[in-house]
Amino acid sequence: MIAHQLWQIHFKGVPIQSRVPIHFILIHSNLSIPQSGVLVFFCTTRLCVSGCGSLESSNHLFLHCNFFGSVWHFIHRWLGLSVATPFQVPDHFNLFSFSGGTTKVHRSILHVIWFAAVWEIWKERNNRLFNVKECSVNQVVDKIKSLTFTWLMLKYASLPFNYHGWWLSPFTILDIG
Ligand SMILES: [Zn+2]
Repeated sequence: MIAHQLWQIHFKGVPIQSRVPIHFILIHSNLSIPQSGVLVFFCTTRLCVSGCGSLESSNHLFLHCNFFGSVWHFIHRWLGLSVATPFQVPDHFNLFSFSGGTTKVHRSILHVIWFAAVWEIWKERNNRLFNVKECSVNQVVDKIKSLTFTWLMLKYASLPFNYHGWWLSPFTILDIG
């Protein structure tokens, strides 16, 4: 499944006020920009802004970078998941989505968390590149937790969301783990 399909399918259910432009960098891609958001594809030979010394690519930035990729370690630990890291971003999306419970709500929540993580990684990359501002990995992870809480409160008004419970053990507090 390619990135713009993921965008169209999995952001349809997110309330309009919480939709945000999200960008993917995909090397050698010529996909179009969807109306519902800003999806950017371009080729680059830029070095990764983390300073790791690798060339920047979508797979490197979102999965394999020593800095940016480590965000997933903390997200997995937060959720109590064990997810392998495949080479490509869409494969990670699929593995992540089915790594926990099997209910539709559970998968939908994991989709939101995945998109929030990619969005915050992308923002951190841009802050480093254009604003010369840096956050730590823990700060990026905290932003992901806050953003997912906000998005999910809008999407699932009936679920028993509690900010501190969400922060500590999200699926326990929702009783859907
Ligand atoms: Zn890197």
